[in-house]
Amino acid sequence: MFKDERIWKLLEELIEKRKEELKPQFDPSFEKLYRYPEAEEILEKPPLITFYLIEDLARLGYLKKIFKEKLFLCPVCNSNELKYETYCPKCHSAYILKMKAIEHQCGYLGKLETYQDGKILRCPKCLQELQIIGEDYKFYSAYYQCQDCEEYFKEPKEFWHCRKCGAIIEKENLKEVSLFSYQLKEEGVSELKLKTLPKEQIINFLKSQGYEVEESVKVNGRSGAEHEIDILATKKSGPLEHRIVVGFATAKEEVPAEEVIKLYAKAYDVNAGDIILVALPKLSADALHFAKHYQIRVFEKEDLERLEKAFFEK
Ligand SMILES: [Zn+2]
Ligand SMILES: [Zn+2]
Ligand SMILES: [Zn+2]
Repeated sequence: MFKDERIWKLLEELIEKRKEELKPQFDPSFEKLYRYPEAEEILEKPPLITFYLIEDLARLGYLKKIFKEKLFLCPVCNSNELKYETYCPKCHSAYILKMKAIEHQCGYLGKLETYQDGKILRCPKCLQELQIIGEDYKFYSAYYQCQDCEEYFKEPKEFWHCRKCGAIIEKENLKEVSLFSYQLKEEGVSELKLKTLPKEQIINFLKSQGYEVEESVKVNGRSGAEHEIDILATKKSGPLEHRIVVGFATAKEEVPAEEVIKLYAKAYDVNAGDIILVALPKLSADALHFAKHYQIRVFEKEDLERLEKAFFEK
């Protein structure tokens, strides 16, 4: 399934809840504008490859994509340090004040306070008493007046000022980007647990037997070739060294013989005394034949489910 062990490592981190989710981090210098630093660290991959890998894992049904937030950015420099500003549509001054205002049928428009006359409202221009809202006068709960040119207006001109590059941006030109986080999908978890659980059990068992255990190691074989070994267990007694190679193979239905032969070739090249293969969900008949021939110990899904049961009943 995944050739690269580091992908499993990423998923395992999520399974074991060390990380609840992969959180996006805004990065104006990165072409996607957000990235996943934690995943980059685990995968040991650059931001773009990590970005696509995570998307692929979501497409394959292992991860769930969750909308996190929307950011508004400067279209010039991608900065999100934007300051909202308003200005007078007549003289362009930024010195404008918001107020409650009344517009009388005579045409006068002014602050609510200028109409107040004791307990009644009276137009300061024509001196008529105001009667019914919506008929002889209009009330505005938000109106603006420029403190420089004294112009009244209902809506100020608005824009965003980029603190980084100084650009003045109108609303419709703001750049928008949606950020997503990723969580492990429940359906994917059970399958992955089957993989991580036996791994831990096998490691614990080998350790209890006095083996030194290494995970996902690169080992140089006798042939000079470098092999990546899922689990390598080593025990020294005097001048002798006993090595166990544990391999994991997964397939949709049956793990083919090829995987058994590959594991055997690898294990033989690194001088392993014993070979264990965890095959999920199971080996094909051919593969089983080869495994027996090479004296490889095999664990299939059914064996692991028994293991898991035993594990949880403890
Ligand atoms: Zn003005
Ligand atoms: Zn009036
Ligand atoms: Zn900018």
